[in-house]
Amino acid sequence: MNYIVFDLEFNMFFKFKEGDLANPEMKNEIIQIGAVKLNEALETIGRFDLIIKPVVYRRMNPYVKRKTNINTSMVVQGTPFGKAIESFYSWVGEGSVLCSWGHDDILALRDNCLFFGFNALSFDKFLNIQQIYMKYGDLPKQPSLESAVEGLEIEVSTPFHDALSDASYTAEIFRKIFNPSCDTIINWERVQKENDEKIEALKNFIDKVEIQCPSCNQYVQKASEVTKSKKYFAFGYCVECNLHIRHVSRITHRDGLYSIVSNNSIYKSEEAGLAAKVTQRLPNLEIEG
Ligand SMILES: [Zn+2]
Repeated sequence: MNYIVFDLEFNMFFKFKEGDLANPEMKNEIIQIGAVKLNEALETIGRFDLIIKPVVYRRMNPYVKRKTNINTSMVVQGTPFGKAIESFYSWVGEGSVLCSWGHDDILALRDNCLFFGFNALSFDKFLNIQQIYMKYGDLPKQPSLESAVEGLEIEVSTPFHDALSDASYTAEIFRKIFNPSCDTIINWERVQKENDEKIEALKNFIDKVEIQCPSCNQYVQKASEVTKSKKYFAFGYCVECNLHIRHVSRITHRDGLYSIVSNNSIYKSEEAGLAAKVTQRLPNLEIEG
């Protein structure tokens, strides 16, 4: 049984010009997969490094570009997602345990697979190395990869925020702290099924969320509403303040926690200019992932 320690880099929406819109179905588009393959003795037996050509966000977000040093001309020459994921999947091999720093990368990997129609790919065994490190160091808060590298006195030889480099650091951490007798491998297939059920449960909540005027905080009647996959939009009018209200609720996941995040904003009926924003979190709807 091998361990695949992987890391992903993503491109995301950036408004380069008026009219550019984010695709609500694709928040983080994978542009790089880096991975290290370890055998049962945790020795490195292989490396995987691939730049992927984005199709939703083709031009590199300037912040991501600065962070990762990946520019548009590099991703233009990248491997199409389908080909990349197939070669990654066959490189991973049967029965391997996928390992990553936190939950976000494996969730995004699944989201990208689903977006591009790769429903059949199953990664059913998973280890969250960040979680193991938190248990190891008895840490209450989620540490960054950098801080764990520093905490374990691992030599920094390559820059962070490169998928292969981050995967290599994560593998180093894993080597130092993994204890197979007490760190249990997560049945990821089951976790995913439970996550799907949580999303379904949240979907039943989402259109019951009330619209609130960001100016006077009063509840406003819904004039119209529309639900789009994980997003819900409603529109109303505050008679007190004489304001049009646009409400957006969406199901988000962060660190394995699913929740509904709602946002009420004022807009001028025609131009939809956002005058003020109030974000309300609904903590009672959070379900531990
Ligand atoms: Zn009001």
